[in-house]
Amino acid sequence: MAGITLHLQGVSRIYHRGQEEVRALQDVTLTLRPGELTLILGPSGGGKSTLLHVLGGMDRPDAGRIIADSTDVTALSPDRLAQWRRRTVGFIFQNFYLLPGTSALDNVGLPLLLDGQRGGARRTRARRLLEGLGLGDRLSFIPAELSGGQIQRVAIARALAQDPPLILADEPTGNLDTASGRDIMLRLAALAHDEGRTVVVVSHNQEFETLADRVVRIRDGHVESESGSEGGGPAPETVPLTTRVSGPSVFSLIASSVRSLNRRRGRSLFTSLGVTIGVASMVLLVSLGAGLQARVLNVFEASTSLTTITVTSQQTTPGLSLSPTIRSGTGHPINAHAVEMFRRLPHVRAAYGVSEFLGSARVGDASTTAIITNLAPRNVTGASRPQVLAGSLPTAARPGIVLPKSVAMSLFHVSSGRLSAVIGRTMRMTLEGTVGSLGITGPAGASPSVRVVVRGVTGGSAEPIGYVNQALAGEWLTRLTGAHRQVAYGSADVIAGSTQDVSAIASKLKAEGYGVTTAQSVIQQVHHTFGVIETALGVVGGIALTVAGIMIGVVMSMAVLERRREIGVWRALGARRGDIFILFLVEAVLIGVAGGIIGDALGWGLGVLGAALLHHPGLFVVPRWLLALGIGFGGGVGAVAGSVPANLAAALRPVDALRAE
Ligand code: ADP
Ligand code: MG
Repeated sequence: MAGITLHLQGVSRIYHRGQEEVRALQDVTLTLRPGELTLILGPSGGGKSTLLHVLGGMDRPDAGRIIADSTDVTALSPDRLAQWRRRTVGFIFQNFYLLPGTSALDNVGLPLLLDGQRGGARRTRARRLLEGLGLGDRLSFIPAELSGGQIQRVAIARALAQDPPLILADEPTGNLDTASGRDIMLRLAALAHDEGRTVVVVSHNQEFETLADRVVRIRDGHVESESGSEGGGPAPETVPLTTRVSGPSVFSLIASSVRSLNRRRGRSLFTSLGVTIGVASMVLLVSLGAGLQARVLNVFEASTSLTTITVTSQQTTPGLSLSPTIRSGTGHPINAHAVEMFRRLPHVRAAYGVSEFLGSARVGDASTTAIITNLAPRNVTGASRPQVLAGSLPTAARPGIVLPKSVAMSLFHVSSGRLSAVIGRTMRMTLEGTVGSLGITGPAGASPSVRVVVRGVTGGSAEPIGYVNQALAGEWLTRLTGAHRQVAYGSADVIAGSTQDVSAIASKLKAEGYGVTTAQSVIQQVHHTFGVIETALGVVGGIALTVAGIMIGVVMSMAVLERRREIGVWRALGARRGDIFILFLVEAVLIGVAGGIIGDALGWGLGVLGAALLHHPGLFVVPRWLLALGIGFGGGVGAVAGSVPANLAAALRPVDALRAE
C-alpha cells in the first residue's frame, strides 16, 4: 500500500468562544511524505489535536489549503470529504473510541459498513485484521471485556480496515503502560517503514523521537521547530474528483439501528411506553365504541325489528299521502301472489300479508271502535311482536285476539290488577272494512258479525290496536270481501335476512313500483351517532399519541446528547450527515412501531379482560384495520418525533461530537 503526500499551506484554525478568539492553528505549512513516521510534539493546548483533525478531514481550516496527492481536500463537498475520511484516513483516537457494547469484529467492520461493503466481506476482512493483531480469540468481545492493550489493537485494526494510505494517531500511548505504549509505537512505525504509509503520531513522550523520521514541535498553534525536513517543495496541481460518492446501504444502517436499540433494550422499551399507552388507549376506546354500537343495534333489532320492510301498494308521494296508512289511488295490489313473489326475492327470510280491520267490539252493553291487525306467522323470526301483560299471543291452534290493556279494561269492566280475568272471555265484533294503501274497502254485503276469544292483553303501546292470529285474519278478510273478489292485504311485511340486506331489498321493491317503509333511517342514525363517538374517542387516543411523540422526541434528543461521542466516531470514520440522520430516524420509527405493536396487544388484552370482568362478551370489537392503524400511527409518531433529534445528530460536526464529554 502506497502512502500519500500531504501538503499543508498556510493552514489556520480559529475557534470563537464568545468574544474570545482561540488561534488553535496559525499559518502552518508542512509536507508529510509516504514511508515516514512524523512525530508531533508540544505542550497541551498547543494545537496538536486540531492539526490532526484538519489533516484527517474531520475539521475544515479557516484559511490555507491541504492538498493530498492531487486532491484539494479543503475544497471537497461534505459527502466527498466523508468519503475521503473513509477511504484515505485511518484514525486512532486518544481514547480509542470504540463503540461501546459493540463486538471487536463489528467495531473493525464499521468503516467497511460505511463504505457500502456487504456483511460477509466485512466480517472476513475484520477477522483477518484482528487475527493479524493476535486478537483471533476476542472477536465477539465488547470493549468493556477487553484490556487496554487489546482495545488499542482493535483500534489499530479499525484504522487499517480500509487499508488507508494515511494513518493519524492522537496520543495513542497516553493511557497505556510503558510496554503497551512501546508496542503500539513499534506497530505504527512499521506501518510507515514496512508498508510505506504516511503516518502521523501526536505524543508528548520524548522517548519515541528515536522511532520517528521527523519531529514537528507545535506551540500556540505555530510550528516551533521541524527536524528531518527536506523542505516542502511546491504543491502539485490538483484535479477535482468526479467519481460517484459511495455510502452505506440503507439496509446496513437499519441493521445498525436495530443493534443499537437491542443494546439499549430497556431504554428503548421505556421510550416506546408513551406510544404503547397512546395506541392501547386508542384501540381500547375505538373498539369499545364499535362494541357498544353492535350492542345497541342488537337491542334495536330485538325490539323494533330493523329487518322488517313494510310494503304498500304504491310508492308514497310526498305531500299527497294523508297518513302513513290511509292513502288513496291505485297501485299493485298486495295479494297472496305478490307476497309469494316477495318471499322469493334474494336475502328475504320471510314475507306475509298484513291486514288492518276497522270495526266495533261489543261485550254485553259495552262497545268500542277498534283497529285490528294480524300478527306475524309464528314460524317467522325477526318480526316484531307485541309484548303481552297477561295470557299469550293467539295461534292457529288457539285462535283469537290480543287486546290493548285500555280496551280490555273498558269492555270487560276489570281493573288493571285483574287483567287475567279477561283471558278466555268472548266478545263480538262487527267488521266494517279493511284499511289499505288503496283506501278503506267496505264489506261486499252487510257488515259481518264474528265472535272472537280474548287470548291476551298487551300494554305499553299507546295505540288502540288489537292483534289476531294470521289464520283468523284470513277468515275475516274472506268474509269481508266475499268469495267472488280477489283477497288483497292492506300491506305486507318483508323480513330481510340481516340489516345489511334491508336497503337492497327495499330498492328492489321500490323498482317494482311498491311503496316501502324501513327502519333503515334508525340504523343510519345509530351508525352516524357512533361514528361521532368513535371519532371523539379516536381524538382522545390521538392526543395520547401526540404526548407519546413528544416523549419520544425528548428521550431521543437526550440520547443524541448522550451519544455525541458515538456520533463523532461514526462521522470521523466517514459517515455522511444523511447516514446519521437515517440511523437515528430508523431508531425512532422502530421505537414507535414497537410501541404500536405492544399497544395493540395491550389494548386488545385489556378489552378481553374488561369484557370478561364485566361479563359482557363482545363489549370490545377490535377490527383488523384498527390494529394496522395502531402500528402505522406508532411508526408515524416515531418518524415525526425522531426527525428533530435525527437532524440534530446529523448536524453535529465530527470534531465537536468527539470532543463532547
Ligand atoms: P492539544 O491537542 O495540543 O492539546 P488542541 O488542538 O486540542 O490542543 O487545542 C488547541 C487550542 O484550541 C486549545 O486552546 C483549545 O482550548 C482550543 N480549542 C480546541 N477545540 C476548541 C473548540 N471546539 N472551541 C474552542 N476552542 C477550542
Ligand atoms: Mg490533544
